[in-house]
Amino acid sequence: MIAADRKHAVDRMVELISQSRRAVAFTGAGISTECGIPDFRSPGGLWTKTFPIPLGEFLASREMRNEAWRRKFAMEPAFRAARPGRGHRALARLIQRGKLSAIITQNIDNLHQESGVPQEKLIELHGNGSYATCLDCAARYELDWVRERFEAAGGVAPDCPKCQGPVKAATISFGQAMPEEAMRRAEAETRAADLFLSIGSSLVVWPAAGFPAMAKQNGARLVVLNREPTDFDGMADLVSRDDIGDVLEPFLA
Ligand code: NAD
Ligand code: ZN
Repeated sequence: MIAADRKHAVDRMVELISQSRRAVAFTGAGISTECGIPDFRSPGGLWTKTFPIPLGEFLASREMRNEAWRRKFAMEPAFRAARPGRGHRALARLIQRGKLSAIITQNIDNLHQESGVPQEKLIELHGNGSYATCLDCAARYELDWVRERFEAAGGVAPDCPKCQGPVKAATISFGQAMPEEAMRRAEAETRAADLFLSIGSSLVVWPAAGFPAMAKQNGARLVVLNREPTDFDGMADLVSRDDIGDVLEPFLA
């Protein structure tokens, strides 16, 4: 059912959350747009300008690795300046109140952590862009470490000093295997939930987009909070197309 207005959406959310014994939030780029990080699929979003570089292309040539890091560093000021928004803070509060058992996120911006959500309550399906790792030996490198070498070499991406493997932002690219532990935890949380809140996701990136339907098929109630329609609106118990920050702000108290 599509909420008629914001008050209707908030009232119904309050009701669903109070009736729930175990709720899970599932977040996408839309929760971070008010923090200054553009999403992919809103009109004029990043997607419409540059398609992300798939893993195969990243591995295939040094030039693509250089290009990937050029793009990463171009986006970096927006990521660094971003602070948790009302949506992040409301979800952190719901975790604190024992109302949410976990947040499953597709985001890579580290803003759920920064809003105070403990790592054991957070499941990152697409990794984290606030640091880098070697794809061969998994050694961790900070972005500043990469940037110093990238700039000193005139825009050439550095390799891992330990094993010469390629160093990539610690995000999951298209063509890259999903993190097994995160997928396993996300599935367990989804199956245990009686309320599933999908917030700010176009629900088109698979396999992540499978979780709302999995929850619904398992008997949970489903809420879709997203400005644009999604393929899962028809099965949702509540759909709100209102602004995420505005709808979640009442839960900050
Ligand atoms: P998406 O860009 O496909 O969809 C975002 C959705 O949020 C859109 O449908 C848009 O209508 C909605 N939205 C944006 N701002 C909103 C607001 N204020 N209120 C209500 N709705 C709003 O994002 P996705 O589904 O998360 O998939 C994109 C992929 O790109 C993910 O895998 C994610 O890892 C990655 N990504 C992450 C970030 C981030 O970490 N902040 C940013 C861009 C992309
Ligand atoms: Zn290495």
